[in-house]
Amino acid sequence: MLTIGCHLSSSKGYLAMGKTAVSIDANTFQFFTRNPRGGNAKALDEADVEDYLSYAAQHGITRILAHAPYTLNGCSADEHLRDFARRTMADDLQRLEATPGNCYNFHPGSHVGQGAETGIAYISEMLNSILTPQLHTTVLLETMSGKGSEVGRSFEELREILDRVQLSGQMGVCLDTCHVWDGGYDIVKHLDEVLDEFDRVIGLDRLKAVHLNDSMNDLGSHKDRHAKLGEGKIGLEALTRVVRHPALRGLPFYLETPNELDGYAREIRLMRERSL
Ligand code: FE
Ligand code: FE
Ligand code: ZN
Repeated sequence: MLTIGCHLSSSKGYLAMGKTAVSIDANTFQFFTRNPRGGNAKALDEADVEDYLSYAAQHGITRILAHAPYTLNGCSADEHLRDFARRTMADDLQRLEATPGNCYNFHPGSHVGQGAETGIAYISEMLNSILTPQLHTTVLLETMSGKGSEVGRSFEELREILDRVQLSGQMGVCLDTCHVWDGGYDIVKHLDEVLDEFDRVIGLDRLKAVHLNDSMNDLGSHKDRHAKLGEGKIGLEALTRVVRHPALRGLPFYLETPNELDGYAREIRLMRERSL
């Protein structure tokens, strides 16, 4: 069975997310670890986590994906912002020990004119200072569209980060269909070739999650504007090939489309039907 869910608000806690997921026939979900702009996280409610864990086990929810605040920039030119990203991520990973065995996804960052090489060096330094063998969460680098000075716009850049991380066995990659399309990888006409390239450059064994989004913009636009499935330039046929692709089968898929809950329910139902 397809493992699919969508991004959910974490404001009411884990159990509420689990129940919402079940209500839309999702068997996984993604959530922000804290305010997406990066404020303080609420104290972890241990009773809520415990209730969630038994609810999830009963209802077959697996492989939830925590998403770091997207404003964190581990490769900022400003030392304080780099330090803030480091402390926030370290704290997130500590909190995620309450729900072990899942993944934590983050945007590598923006090099803000320092150059991708410098950005890559900062990001891997940060990861080396955060990761320890005692953590039970796999940290994922998200493929980015390359808007502005984003690092992670190519498979090569992600590979370079992974190569510099000592505990790279605790890391993986999350492929965002909108971002790779906007980044210039033609998953509409050449999905096999793009996945072959991913395998050659990074290794498909490191691919742990897929963000399933359509894109409002053209191939290589470097824009990053998500569209509802079938309402963008990627289209339903290509997205169907993604969920059906043998190399991706078994991975969890997370919708980050511009939807309310009923729209997510519809897209989940649609992709479940089309995945068969
Ligand atoms: Fe993201
Ligand atoms: Fe994404
Ligand atoms: Zn995006």
